[in-house]
Amino acid sequence: MSRLPLPAPTTQCERCVAVCCRLRVVLQPEDDIPEHLTVPLPNGGKAMDHDASGWCVALDHEHMNCSIYAQRPDVCRRFVMNGPYCRALRIDYSRDRARGIPAQLE
Ligand code: SF4
Ligand code: SF4
Repeated sequence: MSRLPLPAPTTQCERCVAVCCRLRVVLQPEDDIPEHLTVPLPNGGKAMDHDASGWCVALDHEHMNCSIYAQRPDVCRRFVMNGPYCRALRIDYSRDRARGIPAQLE
């Protein structure tokens, strides 16, 4: 089976609509996130909450960047711009398949 090519690794976050901020971000014990930005998970943990449009509630929609950048969760720090997941996610979003927040980061 042939595979569609991934986008060339030239995209900068500044030119993206923060697709990764639509993912479910599972918080780690060391994360220090304001309670009102989080939701409880069935397993007792917490995740970043999402707004009605599907983005993380910490996203600054005017600038499409993280409003809590200095204290963003560990998984957000580890997400690699132009890494395989970033590139695959952007392909999915461009095909309108990522709108249901299909994956989570932990
Ligand atoms: S890490 Fe990737 S998906 Fe996230 S904002 Fe940057 S380019 Fe977009
Ligand atoms: S905490 Fe910041 S970087 Fe992480 S998903 Fe939310 S807006 Fe994006």
